[in-house]
Amino acid sequence: MTLQDSARDLIEAYFDGGEFQRDLTTLVSRPTESQDPRGKPHLWAYLENDMAPMLEAMGFTCQIHDNPQADGPPILTAARIEDPVLPTVLCYGHGDVVRAQEDQWREGLTPFDLIEEGDRLYGRGAADNKVQHLINLRSMEAVIRAQGHLGFNAKVIIEMGEETGSPGLKTFCETNKDLLAADVFIASDGPRLRPSVPTIFTGSRGGLGFDLQVTLREGANHSGNFGGLLADPAMILAHALASITDVRGQIRVPEWRPTSLTPRIREVLGKLPPHDTGIALDADWGEADLSPAERVFGWNSFAILAMTSGVPEAPLNAIAGSARATCQLRFVVGTEVDDILPALRRHLDREGFDKVEVVPHARGSFPATRLDPDHPMVRFASEAIERAVGVAPDILPNLGGSLPNDCFAEVLGLPTIWVPHSYAGCSQHAPNEHVLKSLSRQALVAMTGLFVELADRGLPRE
Ligand SMILES: [Zn+2]
Repeated sequence: MTLQDSARDLIEAYFDGGEFQRDLTTLVSRPTESQDPRGKPHLWAYLENDMAPMLEAMGFTCQIHDNPQADGPPILTAARIEDPVLPTVLCYGHGDVVRAQEDQWREGLTPFDLIEEGDRLYGRGAADNKVQHLINLRSMEAVIRAQGHLGFNAKVIIEMGEETGSPGLKTFCETNKDLLAADVFIASDGPRLRPSVPTIFTGSRGGLGFDLQVTLREGANHSGNFGGLLADPAMILAHALASITDVRGQIRVPEWRPTSLTPRIREVLGKLPPHDTGIALDADWGEADLSPAERVFGWNSFAILAMTSGVPEAPLNAIAGSARATCQLRFVVGTEVDDILPALRRHLDREGFDKVEVVPHARGSFPATRLDPDHPMVRFASEAIERAVGVAPDILPNLGGSLPNDCFAEVLGLPTIWVPHSYAGCSQHAPNEHVLKSLSRQALVAMTGLFVELADRGLPRE
């Protein structure tokens, strides 16, 4: 029997024998809400009582670190080094979950009990991210059990603050480069493009938040006495916002229009299945010449997240003194992060909006990352997964949303391979979060196949 076959038998037995569901029940039962102070004691407990014992039983040596940021949640690192000459894989997961929203779950469901209904397993954190790192760890374990060793070195990092913006993670990676040194990064988060077909993505769009503020005077002035005499900050702000895009949201700031949508990236995006989000998209919105996939994965988008002037709930007959909009640019690689706000300033000045102030957000930005889709590791992972499950993965250069992938791609300098194990309808970050059993089983087989090939063949040559 080949290693491939014996590891596959083991991982299928792990799922079919009910052990997978028992593991996920244990992980989901710990209420690791990082956005709510009541979750705090559980963040450490998840690492100490759930992750460390699981990893130690697999021959890993674990360390739980204080967060470099005061008050930040703990971070676990683990390593299983078989031979320094073998390649090293770094895996990542996050054990924290978003707020439980327990009063909004449908009748019969409670967030921290894993509840089975048909093909679904409901629970907060089931999809994001507990099932995802569980699948990857148990797949590695199947390889260890099948041949008595893993066949490569493995390191694991689990953080407990991803849902609060990964506090301290970047600093931790910067100051622990040796501890985390590896040859390739393989991790899982987010949804597949199609529930029945694995997806590989290799980066994420970046994001930058800022306010546009127009402050003309203290307080409001009677609109009967001053209307027509005093400039209206809300109107100036509305015109300024309207100058950033055209009527269909196409970006007009030249530096904000990416140059990275090359013919090759268009070709890769063109192979994706039709962009099906479950929500009716506006065909007359966004960059006119681009497909929906190109708009969300290959282009930048500007959004007004919130805006205010006066008190909308209790309007006065008055010209407001100020107006403010909270804005965001999502951007792909190739957009000069440090020039995003200066470019906007230049644009506003050109358009005559010198009274509009650009106020950066204290939280800063998260950078865009993307591994070349022709990188040998992408092909290696794709072919290994196809051999394991019989279907070629959808390959996505980057997610539309964000992940702390820059910590691994830029700080640690690793080729980053993400293999998501959830699907778009999983209600992550919402009530009734769930995973699909059928998808989880296929993902276990896929990851086991990928790890077997790493053990068998080593890293692909560049
Ligand atoms: Zn999340």
